[in-house]
Amino acid sequence: MAGTVTDSPTGLPAGPVTGSATGPASGSGVGPGGRLSPDLVARLVAHIVSDGATSLTTRSPMDDGPLASIPQSSDADVLAAAARARELQRDWAQTSFAERRTIFLDFHDLVLDRQSEVLDLIQLEAGKARHHAFEEVADTALVAKYYARTAQRHLSPRRRVPGLPVVMRTHVEHHPKGVVAMITPWNYPLSMGITDSIPALMAGNAVLHKPDAQTPLSALWAVDLLEEAGLPAGLIQIVTGPGRRLGGPMIDHSDFVCFTGSTATGRLINEHASRRLIGTSLELGGKNAQIVLPDADLDKAAAGAVRAAFSSAGQLCIAMERVLVYEKVYHDFMDRFVAKVSALKLGAGLDFSADMGSLASADQLEKVSAHVEDARAKGATIRTGGRARPDLGPYFYEPTVLTDVGEDMAVCHEETFGPVVSVWPYSAVQDAIDWANDTPYGLNASVFGRDLAHARAVARQIRAGTVNINEGYGAAWGSVDAPMGGMGDSGLSRRHGREGIVKYTEPQTVSSLHHITIEPMYGISYENWARLLTTGLKVMKRVGM
Ligand code: NAD
Repeated sequence: MAGTVTDSPTGLPAGPVTGSATGPASGSGVGPGGRLSPDLVARLVAHIVSDGATSLTTRSPMDDGPLASIPQSSDADVLAAAARARELQRDWAQTSFAERRTIFLDFHDLVLDRQSEVLDLIQLEAGKARHHAFEEVADTALVAKYYARTAQRHLSPRRRVPGLPVVMRTHVEHHPKGVVAMITPWNYPLSMGITDSIPALMAGNAVLHKPDAQTPLSALWAVDLLEEAGLPAGLIQIVTGPGRRLGGPMIDHSDFVCFTGSTATGRLINEHASRRLIGTSLELGGKNAQIVLPDADLDKAAAGAVRAAFSSAGQLCIAMERVLVYEKVYHDFMDRFVAKVSALKLGAGLDFSADMGSLASADQLEKVSAHVEDARAKGATIRTGGRARPDLGPYFYEPTVLTDVGEDMAVCHEETFGPVVSVWPYSAVQDAIDWANDTPYGLNASVFGRDLAHARAVARQIRAGTVNINEGYGAAWGSVDAPMGGMGDSGLSRRHGREGIVKYTEPQTVSSLHHITIEPMYGISYENWARLLTTGLKVMKRVGM
């Protein structure tokens, strides 16, 4: 993790807060040379619940220069934040869907209008290329609009079929859970936190959010904008600090945990939450596969693989790390794929000029290099890439394509979470499906083929929460009315769609009985009452009730 803890008496940035990216500056919060405006940083960090005793200087992965001084939260701060969230949630739960809808529709417009500011922040914090940062902006706007318009439909009381016709009436209410703990990673610093917070808030909850230590500014920007759009101040409480320390108190003082991050941390969080009998939603890692079917359009398949493998420099949970290509088109595919990957332009500019940005940290560079060196040492062929690019920035790594990858290599089964993809030929489609499923993960998959019926039939056999046809990840991710999440080691529960909001509620069944009692009536014996009911049940089945 980038950054060092320093003592800061105020908790606010000590001295000038400098950005660090090279290349042209653009957003309103970034001055010449990529310096972050101290006013912007001060406005954002003011949302952090912190006693200001310690702070962490975050650094931009673009050049390892200091970015901002972030006040850190103590355990007592977490407790205070949770208590404040609980207090504010009571009033918030009484607001109508119409009131909430207005706020999130305004937020949608503000996000799009002010995007240049947050694009700079995302790039500076996470190191990614600007067009990859834009995916976060689009995702945030889409999800805000979707839940603003659909929350009422998903959560309004609904009539259900009663146990007995005429004499019973049954409906289901959805009550907010209360305080939702949100713990998010660094790779999508804007969208991971806010897009999961939006349905929680639309459902009437408060949110206690801990963004990753390296990337809090993008998350804080969203909170700042939401409050400008009308969200009551403090309904999202932000705490900052190491997850290992803050995770426990957060879980102990919330009613549901929404976590996005590694499978290892997800397991720990689930164990802790289960001791309190509170629910979790876990969005975890993946080792996703793309299958190129015999009839695939190879230009589209190669372009799709480039996008899906190298978006955010491969630091995307739904990125493709394995590509399986029908043997008879394998060489034609590889020619196209390797040419496109070799032509990708790397850069750190705060504009749309680069195809791919930097890795996010020294840890990431170390892991990616270790996976590639392990594969190289064990006989893999590096078709392109395979080296760090310190000339561009401290953590840049070339987009890398490997072939001849064997089972004994780390890249074969472990999530690399970087710009490294392995390609294998296959001879029978069933082998490709089996290979795609040969992983404990089950997050995302992709199938390229012209015959859509066949591609869909293949998709159904892949054990993954989402499968994209003729795309790598954007089709399913952008379909925000449909659930998204992982099977197996990739997680529990889903985001997006009805599933992504109902999880933040407690369903309550309210059923009334009319005209009769359930006990025998009119002096009828239990035996005759049972006979009468038995006849009634048989009649109900016969008439289709
Ligand atoms: P990580 O699990 O190390 O950290 C994620 C978050 O959890 C951070 O905020 C961290 O501070 C916090 N944390 C760490 N230890 C904790 C603990 N013991 N208790 C509570 N919180 C704790 O993950 P990472 O390495 O930062 O992120 C990369 C991983 O996230 C990859 O595996 C990637 O696939 C996954 N991811 C999944 C999705 C998805 O939607 N499925 C999306 C993005 C990233």
